[in-house]
Amino acid sequence: MRITMIGTGYVGLVSGACFADFGHTVVCVDKDSGKIDRLHQNIMPIYEPGLDALVASNVKAGRLSFTTDLAEGVKDADAVFIAVGTPSRRGDGHADLSYVFAAAEEVARALTKPAVIVTKSTVPVGTGDEVERIIAEVAPDKGIKVVSNPEFLREGAAIEDFKRPDRVVVGAEDEQAVQVMSEIYRPLSLNQAAPVLFVGRRTSELIKYAANAFLAVKITFINEISDLCEQVGADVQQVARGIGMDKRIGSKFLHAGPGYGGSCFPKDTLALLKTAADNDTPVRIVEATVQVNEARKRAMGRKIIKAMGGDVRGKKVALLGLTFKPNTDDMRDAPSISIVQALEDAGAKVHAYDPEGEEQARPLMPNVEFCTGPYQAAENADALVIVTEWDEFRALDLKRMARTLNQPLLVDLRNIYPAQFAQDAGFTIVSVGKPAID
Ligand code: NAD
Repeated sequence: MRITMIGTGYVGLVSGACFADFGHTVVCVDKDSGKIDRLHQNIMPIYEPGLDALVASNVKAGRLSFTTDLAEGVKDADAVFIAVGTPSRRGDGHADLSYVFAAAEEVARALTKPAVIVTKSTVPVGTGDEVERIIAEVAPDKGIKVVSNPEFLREGAAIEDFKRPDRVVVGAEDEQAVQVMSEIYRPLSLNQAAPVLFVGRRTSELIKYAANAFLAVKITFINEISDLCEQVGADVQQVARGIGMDKRIGSKFLHAGPGYGGSCFPKDTLALLKTAADNDTPVRIVEATVQVNEARKRAMGRKIIKAMGGDVRGKKVALLGLTFKPNTDDMRDAPSISIVQALEDAGAKVHAYDPEGEEQARPLMPNVEFCTGPYQAAENADALVIVTEWDEFRALDLKRMARTLNQPLLVDLRNIYPAQFAQDAGFTIVSVGKPAID
């Protein structure tokens, strides 16, 4: 199949490279010429493990190419995937669909033969209908079909998730479009037996939001349970294990921490609330989740301040990890942003180290001093805080770290160090959802 991917961000570039790896011929289009220039030099515009090698091998095989010229890019396409951003619209939280609609219109004008336009971006229910309306206006006789195919990959594990997904969801209203989508995903379903779920387009659009909202609820649930654990002397990791072994609950997404962030859960929960409100069907459990999570991020700042004795004016705090999760450089809505703000508001000076996130973090936290490694960040600091559980923070030389710090205080917001282990290295440790230590 000849596939065109509009947008070479976290989703578009990974999906495009993986489709090429399945044997399809893929052209990736982005209007950001800087990104396309870098891709031509095999420099990845984002950090995603394994992506550079995957891109390089498929470019070399002649199956993957890049352009800023949309008309050229869609010329021979059987399917054009739209994978542009859908950020929260300022004011009401609705997904900003202007990039999707603009791309759809441009694609429809440029197509010269019948093709399927596939919305891979996360879009509210009814967006496919609107895309269809736009196409009917600008290109009524080109035989263009509109399909929804939401993406469920996780940053940091995106290639594996794309190639071995739990399921692929396709929302189509047209038999011909179903055929094209089946052909596109055939290599994947053959190899891995990943079920491709064909549903109506509106159902497909809602599946994506329902999935993300459910996961956000699950994380927020265990976060609230972790607060309760701290009050009643229970251990949230053991509680999570104890409930997660029940197959009806499942063990994933039960890690207590500083609250969810990233480019998806915050904006997608807000967009679902807007859709629900517009349809007079409030989803109160998601409303509560959004509020609790927002409050939690800032509360983590207060937790650190409390651990440091309540007054941090003039003190130095070393933060390890800034991205919303490990193995990505994505800083969108990362909890670290609220944590840094709370610490700086209280008069602390923040030194930070993140293996990949520094470039995106710098403009978001202009007063932070960025360091080149965990030990440099810790020099003369009054507390060490683990915000993101990058692998390289899992086996720190804690004895050396304790000597490097001004105060051997560890606030472990990801529970990667057992209390006894940290104490043996000379640390006072504060974890999340653990009984207080004498
Ligand atoms: P991104 O911001 O990283 O990338 C979007 C890209 O689209 C940018 O490079 C931008 O320049 C380009 N673009 C915008 N308009 C264009 C146009 N008209 N023509 C060509 N290029 C254009 O976004 P992302 O994180 O990849 O997310 C894309 C969509 O996928 C969003 O709807 C998001 O919610 C969804 N999604 C993201 C993830 C994730 O983990 N990031 C996972 C699942 C779904």
